[in-house]
Amino acid sequence: MSVPISYGSILRQLKQHHQNKLHAQYRLFSSTPLYWQKAPASTISTATSKAPTRKERLVVLGSGWGGYTLLKHLDKSKYETVIVSPNTYFAMTPLLAQAAVGTLDFRAVMEPVRSNGDVTFHHAWVDALDIQTRTLKLMPAYPPSFREVDPTVSLQEQQHEVHAQLQSQLGRNTDNGERLPHAVPPHSDGKRQARVALEEQSRAPARIPEAKGGYATSFKKPVHRRDVEGMSTASEVPSASVSPATTRGADDKLTQQHGMVHPDDLPRIAEAAMAQEQGRYYELKFDKLVIAVGAYNRTFSIKGVKENAWFLKDAQNARSIRWRILETLEQASHPELPEEDKRKLLSWVVVGGGPTGAELIGEIHDFASNEIKRIFPTLAPLIKLTIVDSAGAILHTFDERLSQYARAKFLNNRIDVRLKRTITGVEPGVLHIKEDGALPFGLLVWSTGITSSPLIRSIKGIKKEKRSLNLLTDDQLRALKAEEGQELVELAPPPKPGVPPNESRCTEEAYENIWALGDWRMMPATAQVASAKAKHLASILNGEMGELGSNSTAAAAYQDQRYFKYSSRGAMTNLGSSQAIFESPVANMTGRTAWLLWRGAYSWMSMSWRNRLLVPWGWLVTATFGRDVSRF
Ligand SMILES: Cc1cc2nc3c(=O)[nH]c(=O)nc-3n(C[C@H](O)[C@H](O)[C@H](O)COP(=O)(O)OP(=O)(O)OC[C@H]3O[C@@H](n4cnc5c(N)ncnc54)[C@H](O)[C@@H]3O)c2cc1C
Repeated sequence: MSVPISYGSILRQLKQHHQNKLHAQYRLFSSTPLYWQKAPASTISTATSKAPTRKERLVVLGSGWGGYTLLKHLDKSKYETVIVSPNTYFAMTPLLAQAAVGTLDFRAVMEPVRSNGDVTFHHAWVDALDIQTRTLKLMPAYPPSFREVDPTVSLQEQQHEVHAQLQSQLGRNTDNGERLPHAVPPHSDGKRQARVALEEQSRAPARIPEAKGGYATSFKKPVHRRDVEGMSTASEVPSASVSPATTRGADDKLTQQHGMVHPDDLPRIAEAAMAQEQGRYYELKFDKLVIAVGAYNRTFSIKGVKENAWFLKDAQNARSIRWRILETLEQASHPELPEEDKRKLLSWVVVGGGPTGAELIGEIHDFASNEIKRIFPTLAPLIKLTIVDSAGAILHTFDERLSQYARAKFLNNRIDVRLKRTITGVEPGVLHIKEDGALPFGLLVWSTGITSSPLIRSIKGIKKEKRSLNLLTDDQLRALKAEEGQELVELAPPPKPGVPPNESRCTEEAYENIWALGDWRMMPATAQVASAKAKHLASILNGEMGELGSNSTAAAAYQDQRYFKYSSRGAMTNLGSSQAIFESPVANMTGRTAWLLWRGAYSWMSMSWRNRLLVPWGWLVTATFGRDVSRF
């Protein structure tokens, strides 16, 4: 029997079905028909969560070296595994400097977290941990989208409607930012912050970059990044700022670099501000928890660093550095720009002579002496590379001879090495050094170490090392219990920097269900340590060292195995020009042999076979055809 089909009725049914689903999760937000307010977290499940299961829920915070390595080695059939990270990828940090100058493609240094089967991923920041109730508070790391989507209305119509709604709510023309003739309704308190955001933006510099001598010489780089010391939870992000999660190409880069607003961005900025005010947090419960949120960039609270310097901590930072280097080259190519201004733009400075800073300046040198020299022959002689450090040596954690070798190589490559310097402040385009005065720059990368993240600082009930504020664990990597208000503990420094006193056993009371891949007795903050801890913890969680929670004598027999021991496999730094240094307990190495070892080790350490192939392939392509200089 055939049933007459009406497309109208199908659409109505679809719409009804969609409405019912939405009503189950959200209740209508009173002051506007367009936005929906979230129901209490306990009543909903997130879009990506799995079907109910009796497995224990293991939540891993962070997709860096600790979190991602754990994920790779975990027996995921044992748990309902959930990973929470503001990054949808794992970044191979030792290769980021190469990605920043185009030696390697970004794809070769990143692994998508969602590609791992049997894992639920939350693209979010964890902003609070409640140990008593086993609850995490999550803030989405993507622009919130709680708009009702009507399948019967075309996308264009929806956009038009959103525009019209925003215009009336904000009292502004979203196309040009001008105030509309009618007044903003006084009752729409929920939109106050959005209006403030627009007011702030309207006071921002004009869209024409700062003019100096008739030429565009904008060195301004406002940053509102959450991975920099001083920025903490989402609620502290300035209301009108463009969060890293909302970065979408050139327009955002312009917004970040010149502090100006593209009209297309107005609705997005307003929406982000409103989401912040309404609080789009949600909760996630856990049975077992692994904290591996890493650290923030340290600025020593020096004035102007956050706003004017670039950082190299993550793939997005590397992209930003790459973008800026190529931008300065294009700006300096302007035929009428005086040489003095060109030199300022092409002064590229790295503050921090540790492994990250040294590797970056080495890579920039290689880029400058190869592709830039060939493609921008008139600009190459104007480029000046400088590395600044407060210590008396670069790479001072290495053996003294290796450190001196590195310095000699840099000087040979005409890199200005400035040691024992005190930075007093940073202004747009100018680094202030107490001993030298003002040093103009077109790019300043700040790499002076790390500090604990605001999440770690906010956690209560777990012991922390007093100076670093790192979470403390016992020798099985379990977080140490602390009375509230008595979290801070003073520890004796290790006998030699970087050498953990493995022999000491920890007998303090620890949580049975919370592990931290942070410092225990001040181990070095390296990928090597983080991944060694993660692999060890995976073995414990997999039950390879006896079932957890079991009181049997068999489990007790595993106690010794669960004790985490770290033995360093050595440290390496790539200096550029096919040179490196390698320090190990067995022997030290320098030059090309160390460089080959460096390349071999880091291509092998990639987390997937895809990248183990892509990394050497990328090196081969670069050696054959050179680095790409297109700016995208
Ligand atoms: C450029 C560079 C080069 C390096 N080179 C080397 C090297 O050659 N050898 C070496 O051994 N080490 C190297 N390191 C150091 C190494 O990368 C770190 O020691 C290592 O990443 C630490 O691992 P982690 O898991 O603790 O933190 P990370 O790898 O930083 O991971 C932290 C994760 O937590 C996430 N996160 C942060 N806050 C939150 C939150 N509130 N909620 C949820 N998730 C959060 C982050 O997004 C990230 O995914 C390098 C570091 C950098 C930056």
